[in-house]
Amino acid sequence: MRFLLVFLVVLLLAWRWRAWREAKQRDRQASAKPRTTEMVICLQCGVHIPVQEAVIGAKGSYCSAAHRLAMEP
Ligand SMILES: [Zn+2]
Repeated sequence: MRFLLVFLVVLLLAWRWRAWREAKQRDRQASAKPRTTEMVICLQCGVHIPVQEAVIGAKGSYCSAAHRLAMEP
């Protein structure tokens, strides 16, 4: 009975250690990815802007709605 208890504790520790190691590996893979922001150029004024903030028109991307209207009336 005592052997079974020790065996279960060792099994539990090995399982916890393995889960911890996999989580650590996942964190390392996530942090290894480069953190870059894709930039686009405004067709009207040529300024560089992050693609998330760009106003997308039919001909391309713009820094603002005013510049899109100037190029695409
Ligand atoms: Zn612009």
